[in-house]
Formats: sequence, structure tokens, C-alpha cells
Amino acid sequence: MRETINVPQAEIERQREFMRLVEKLPERPHSYHIVSMGCQMNERDSETVAGMLEAMGMARQPVREAADLILYNTCCVRENAENKALGNVIWLKELKKDRPELMICVGGCMTQEKGMAAMMKQRYPFIDLVYGTHNLYKLPEYIYRVITEKHPVVEVMDIDGEVVEGLPERRKKHFSAFVNIMYGCDNFCTYCIVPYVRGRERSREPEAILAECVRLQDEGAQEIMLLGQNVNSYRGGGAAFAELLYRVDRLGIPRIRFMTSHPKDLSDELIHAYGELKHLMPQLHLPVQAGSDEILRRMNRRYTREHYLELVRRLRGVCPDIGLTSDIIVGFPGETQAQFEETMSLVREVRYDAAYTFIYSPRTGTPAAKMPDDTPYEVKSERIQRLIELQQAISLEVLEKQVGTRQRVLVEAASTRDAGSVGGKTPRGHMVNFPGGPELIGTFADVEIVSAGRNTLRGRRIIQDG
Ligand code: SF4
Repeated sequence: MRETINVPQAEIERQREFMRLVEKLPERPHSYHIVSMGCQMNERDSETVAGMLEAMGMARQPVREAADLILYNTCCVRENAENKALGNVIWLKELKKDRPELMICVGGCMTQEKGMAAMMKQRYPFIDLVYGTHNLYKLPEYIYRVITEKHPVVEVMDIDGEVVEGLPERRKKHFSAFVNIMYGCDNFCTYCIVPYVRGRERSREPEAILAECVRLQDEGAQEIMLLGQNVNSYRGGGAAFAELLYRVDRLGIPRIRFMTSHPKDLSDELIHAYGELKHLMPQLHLPVQAGSDEILRRMNRRYTREHYLELVRRLRGVCPDIGLTSDIIVGFPGETQAQFEETMSLVREVRYDAAYTFIYSPRTGTPAAKMPDDTPYEVKSERIQRLIELQQAISLEVLEKQVGTRQRVLVEAASTRDAGSVGGKTPRGHMVNFPGGPELIGTFADVEIVSAGRNTLRGRRIIQDG
């Protein structure tokens, strides 16, 4: 991992000055709507973008079509995410015909892809601003230029390695917060575009992370999710991830979670932390991607099936009730039927609480996109169907085991399906719906689990006498 360089505070001050300048412009947008696609890292970036837009005097507009500024924070991890983003942006052209003053901004991983910004500039001249992942902090300056110079701005920086501190933010939830601990990735798994669009690994200083956690705690956070593409290789100020975790645990925030963890970097100290830390929730997202050593080798994952299974045994040795989840790719180039069956047998052995399964999606510029792939799409579809059915059966069995138990639930939202109910997560990360009103959102409730569905639990709130 390279040395971390913070963007100078003088530059952040300069951007704050642009925020003030935009706020004073008579013809500026007064409302904004952000469409955030992809992972939690993007969601967290969107919170920073929202903070900057509000500092420029804009108010959040929940209805996209009614906003003066629409910003797409895009994802490019899979081809369909990219197609969806482009489809949405093209649709905005129609909206802009009726409302020429509408400002359209596009940023995130997709715009950072090689050649993408130039293509967008040429094909979609109605987009007012295109920026990348490394220059998000310059958004105020770019918006100022779009308004005052009256022409589109397309700026994507190739350099990376910087960490930005001290930008405004608008958190989505006060009780449960994302905290970035590092950015980028050095692993270059052969199917993955992230290292090319998010840059190389760089970690925030532990003091900056702890200060952010304390601030969030003061503002009422009950849960912190530490974020990074591979938190296990965190090295801020010389501290390893487990060390950081112990320090965050000592703050006393009731719940700590983190993601994502690369199995090759899962340390002994981190495994022990599951047996020792009071606030670390018994849940781990540990993407395996495939169950065949040959496929893992060609994915450049740098662990074997046996190593992965050993990690699972050791985790369950220190924390028997830990809930494991995974990402799994089906139909990697050249995957044989026998290799796919190895993935199936690994899933049977690990018994994940849940798994996010995907058919391999080639990404231009990655080594896997050049590998021969002669498996017909129908075969890949059949495989993923079998995998989904297997995982659904396991998930149901895992959830059924929770019936009759008593769980402490951090209530997150009103249930969308069930009027008069709210939903929240157990320590292990299972979603529970139970009768209750919106006043419970952001608080803990003791719940008895009464039934299990395929993805969620149903419960009954236990109200203590006296
Ligand atoms: S660890 Fe691999 S899959 Fe994860 S972000 Fe890095 S390159 Fe992509």
C-alpha cells in the first residue's frame, strides 16, 4: 500500500469558498436529487455530495423530475449497472428539452472508466457535468463553472492516492452510519474493474476515523459500518485493521460492523476479535467468489478452497453463532460443470446466511475479459438457478432456527409491505419485521421471533413490565 496523502486543507477551504459563491449566484439550482447506484462506498460518497450541494443552498427534492439538479452517482461493477446508468441519463435528455435550466451531473465509477468521459462528452452534450471518483471534492468548483461559464464541464482525473477529509456531509440516517476507513484496492482480481476506477489502496488515519466515530456517537449513532473495498488490508498510521477495530470498540457505540473482507487478508487478530469485542456484531461478509481452486487461481484471488474453509472453521470456533454471507460468481470464463459443482459443495459446507450470486459479467480492460469463454449463457443461467435454489433453502433453514429466540433489533424503517409494522436487524444481520410505529425507528427493541420467511423474520415485540 502506498503512503497516504491528504488533499491539503487549503484546497478544501477553496472548495468551501466555491460553495459560498454558488449559493450567492442568482441562477443557481435550488433543489437536488441524487440517484446513487451500486455499493455502500457509493452511498457514502452520495452523502458527501448531498452535504456539498446543501452547503451551496440546495434542498433535497425526493421527486427526481422536480429537482433543479439531478446527479447520478454511477456504478460499473457489472455491465447491467452501467447500461442502467446510461439508459437513465439518456432519458434525462427528454426532461431537459422541457426544462433547459435543469442541471445534469454524472459521476462515480462509470465515468472513471477509460474513454467513458470522452464518449459521454461527444455523445451526450446535454450533460452539464461529468466528474470521476478522484475529484469528487471539486464538485463545488465545477458547478460554479457550469453556471458562470454556461457550458458543460467534463473533468476526470487519472491520478489517485489521495484522501479527502473535512467535506460537508448529509447523512441518510443518524442512528446507523457508514464510515470510510480506506479507499481503492490493490488486489486486481482478474474480473474486477474496481482497482482501475477507484484507484490504489489508501487508508485514512486512525485518529480521523475515531474522531468521526465519536462525532457520530454524539449525534446518536447506534451502529457504525466501517467501509473499504478490502478492510483487512487497512494500514492507517501503521495500524492494522484489527487494531483499529479494538480502538473503535472501546468508544462504546452499541453495534460495529464492517465490509468488505478479502479472505486472503483475514488475520488471526481479526478472527480473535470476534471472540473478544463487545460491540462487534456476529456477522461477516466474506466473499468466496468460487469453490474451485482452479477458478480461484484464474480469478487471482490468492487463496484456496481449503484455506477459505479453514477460516470459516476458525471463525465459528471463536464465535459459533456468526452469520456469514458471500458473493459468488457463476460462469467465470472456462468454468466447467465439475468446477461449478465445487462451488455448490462449498455452499453446502459453509451454509451461508445469504449469498449474492451473479453471472460473470465481462468488464473491458480486465484480464478476465480476454479469457476464452465457451460456456453458453443458457448453461450459466441453469447453474445460477440451481445455486440460488440451494442458497434459498439454506437461508430458510438458518432463519427457521431463529424462531422462538429473543433478539435485540435496531429498528431501521417502517415496513414497506406491512402497514403498521417496522423492520430492523438482529445482531447477526437478519431482517425482522414486527408490529410497531415509526417512533421506534432508530431505537432498540426486544423481539421474539415467531416465524421465518425466505429472506426475513417476523417477530413480536416484548415489552418489559415495570
Ligand atoms: S478485492 Fe478483488 S473483487 Fe474486491 S474490489 Fe479488489 S479487485 Fe475487486
